[in-house]
Amino acid sequence: MNLVVQKYGGSSLASAEAIKNIAKKIKFKIDKGEKIVCVVSAMGETTDNLINLALNITDNPDSRELDLLLSTGELVSSTLLTIALRSMDIKAISLTGTQAGIFTNKSHGNAKILSIDSSRIWDELNRNKVVVIAGFQGFNDSMDITTLGRGGSDTTAVAIAAELNADICEIYTDVDGIFTANPKYVPNATKLDSVEYEEMLELASLGAKMHPRSIELGLVYKMPILVASSVNDVPGTMITQGDNKLSNKTVGEVRNRVRGIATDENISRITIHGLNNIPGTATKIFEPLSLADISVDVIVQNSGNDGQTNISFTIKDSELTKTKTIMEKICSHIDNASFTYDTGLSKISIVGTGMQDAPGYATQMFKSLSDANINIEMITTSEIRITCIIKQENTGEAARILHSSFDLD
Ligand code: ASP
Ligand code: MG
Repeated sequence: MNLVVQKYGGSSLASAEAIKNIAKKIKFKIDKGEKIVCVVSAMGETTDNLINLALNITDNPDSRELDLLLSTGELVSSTLLTIALRSMDIKAISLTGTQAGIFTNKSHGNAKILSIDSSRIWDELNRNKVVVIAGFQGFNDSMDITTLGRGGSDTTAVAIAAELNADICEIYTDVDGIFTANPKYVPNATKLDSVEYEEMLELASLGAKMHPRSIELGLVYKMPILVASSVNDVPGTMITQGDNKLSNKTVGEVRNRVRGIATDENISRITIHGLNNIPGTATKIFEPLSLADISVDVIVQNSGNDGQTNISFTIKDSELTKTKTIMEKICSHIDNASFTYDTGLSKISIVGTGMQDAPGYATQMFKSLSDANINIEMITTSEIRITCIIKQENTGEAARILHSSFDLD
């Protein structure tokens, strides 16, 4: 008998009608004899609304209380889905993250799962029940409720699938799967049948909406993940382990080595001028930023021949105010250092595991952009990704140009 872990996102559970439809979908699987564990997100915009309630009271809500507050969103959807299943005479039970045994570290708002005690889940499965688990939450060693960070239900689902050794983890969402580019920019983007974990990791952190840690877990535990629509009955995208050499070839053709174009908007750049090119300079800058939990992305250092150097790095626009305050402090402690910043940038990347042993992709990317007169502000690469920082207003055009240049149209 197949054991399937399914995850339903907030937009798939936004109303009573939507919840009843999901219950019907689950019934269909049950009737086929599958065992189902369901992980749910909060209904619609619930999490945003709960955050706003707290922010209306204070700018800086206590993180323990905020986590307990946010965890209620998933309790509402898990109980309602269970009520819907029971009303259809399907045996089902809802469990909170704590009841499901999801043990995390202490980090409120961004907790990591440390272990899962799945005994209760197994008990209920063995009683032939559908187990509906509130996503995005767990408990820590003080028996306090923690949350896993925005979008964390994906990670709950993959972690549970791995712990139960399920046959597959199915992530149901409001899109049909993973596309070769954001259809908002590239109307003829196509849905991918499959994508490798490593590729999806780059796509997930570069804009395609999935909690990156869920993909990391999938990779570690080799858990096949299906991303599919909760509404349209069309095949989704399978995220699986790449068999690099082989998967580059399908019968009679060579697989496209570029799998997709990832875009990420709302990027700001900070540049620090007048730094001495001596050991320890970078630490003086990046240590305070990391202590303040600011996640720094593309970093470029330029050294002049006068022993001076500039360092530029990017952050999310939403972190700009906080970053500027910290940068002022940092610069006041370093002689002659000052900083400038610009906003309105975006990241565009070509992604594909097939690029790792194939030259020429960077050149083709740079040339395609320059032919369209799009200036590249910064460049960064990994083995399977080439990223350029460009002006945000050029994002759509750049995405379309690269999509066609790399034969994804
Ligand atoms: N409800 C949470 C959020 O909106 C978690 C999730 O949807 O995965 O971020
Ligand atoms: Mg989500």
